[in-house]
Amino acid sequence: MRVTFCGTGAGAVVNPARGAASLHLAHGDAQLLLDTGPGFMERMARARLDPDAVSDVVFSHLHFDHAMGVVELFSRLIARRGAPVTVYGPRDTDTYISAALDFARVNATSERMLEWLDGVSVELTRPGDERELGGMAVRSVEVPHAPALECLARRFDAGGRSLVYSGDTVYAPDALVALADGADVLVHEAYTDAALERMAQRLPEGRREGLFRGMRAVHCGAVDAGSIAAAAGVKTLVLTHLIADEREDELLAAARSTFDGSIVVASDGLAFEV
Ligand SMILES: [Zn+2]
Repeated sequence: MRVTFCGTGAGAVVNPARGAASLHLAHGDAQLLLDTGPGFMERMARARLDPDAVSDVVFSHLHFDHAMGVVELFSRLIARRGAPVTVYGPRDTDTYISAALDFARVNATSERMLEWLDGVSVELTRPGDERELGGMAVRSVEVPHAPALECLARRFDAGGRSLVYSGDTVYAPDALVALADGADVLVHEAYTDAALERMAQRLPEGRREGLFRGMRAVHCGAVDAGSIAAAAGVKTLVLTHLIADEREDELLAAARSTFDGSIVVASDGLAFEV
């Protein structure tokens, strides 16, 4: 398996240094996109990855910074002659993709393009789902993130190697330690309190506490991401989904306080074999 980070940023503020969430996972002929945050196709192009070769899209959840780029993917791919794309995702992915296909149809100028869009299929992968995808064994577990929105962490196993992607989650050892048990790579979302402090300084005083409260309610600190990695016994922890105020040294120090394995702070374009 080869993973390429096509977006390692987070949040509603556009960050020129980090695109919204997207990972490209290649194995054999399969080329999966794990989330399609807006702008991911530019990052794909910089990494010299061919969008026409994408076989499947796998959503962790449907927040716009993980999913909205799929409209661009469909709109660009209608000119292709390749096999249709299958989209896997949590509850409501069918509704989301139906709308995305309607947007893309506006740009279709031929019957063939419309047929390509009609060929896009959706498979819901609910919590506990286990399936084979592109020669990889894929397991999905629910992680607690936003209210009323299902979010799934995924584990991919192939050829004795394994990668786990947390999606967006609060500190969730019950779900993630078992899923990531002995994995080669755990890609986990993370933030540091130091970055939140910097962010808070730019807010009116009355809104600062809400920033901390809001982040802690739906996301996971780097110290806790390290704890998950340590409890699961993973070899490498990759920290991603990073707000603009993060500093690499602080992220590493926070995760290092709880995990003594290999730690990498993801950046757009980072690519390696798992
Ligand atoms: Zn989210």
